[in-house]
Amino acid sequence: MIRTKKIQWFLGSLLMITFFTLFPANVLARQTPGIIDGADEASIRGWAWNSTDPSSSQEVKVTITNQTTGSVVGELTASASKYRKDLADQGTGTGNYGFEVSVPWNSYGDGSYLVEAYASGQKLSGTRVYGVGSFASTAGLRSLGMFKTTAYCPCRGCSGRWGGRTSTGMIATADHTISVDPRVIPYGSRLMIGGVIYTAEDCGSGVRGNHIDIFFNTHGETRAYGTRNIEVFLVQ
Ligand SMILES: [Zn+2]
Repeated sequence: MIRTKKIQWFLGSLLMITFFTLFPANVLARQTPGIIDGADEASIRGWAWNSTDPSSSQEVKVTITNQTTGSVVGELTASASKYRKDLADQGTGTGNYGFEVSVPWNSYGDGSYLVEAYASGQKLSGTRVYGVGSFASTAGLRSLGMFKTTAYCPCRGCSGRWGGRTSTGMIATADHTISVDPRVIPYGSRLMIGGVIYTAEDCGSGVRGNHIDIFFNTHGETRAYGTRNIEVFLVQ
């Protein structure tokens, strides 16, 4: 998707100036504390780091919340200190930031569960929904219907001179950022698409109506995603 966002650029600049004026110190660190990048019957996996102290290990707290009752059924902790080659290869500190916790799903019983993780009080991105037993993974979420979904990355072909910046001033993050038509999906909305919870924080000239553009780090991933028609759920 080629995106031209001249009008939103002005608004985005204002937001960004406000943002950095009000929160000068740890804004960027706060945006990338880590991510949950796997959740299945065996375990929940991801990584977390403190970018201002890359040699330290973060303690990660994973919370499992029953979406129907709203009660937290599990709080699991893990040290984010496993070596991950993908992190080291992309230049994220030492790469020793991986975590993995096994989950006693059967002891929680049938239900649809929200999987969230925190490190140093900051929420990691990539929140998941996991269904146990007869519950579909979408239980408890409100369907917004079918959307056309496409993918984009920071490259020139996808984002022009915008790179990783979004129209709301946030830095685009994989497994987190989506581009929407703000008349259909207001900025700040959280949507579950394919088991991942995203936040609407970007727009684009090619994104109109029931169309969502999903941010990826690389153009290879963008091409692999292609165009998919998929049911989208609003996270309340
Ligand atoms: Zn691209």
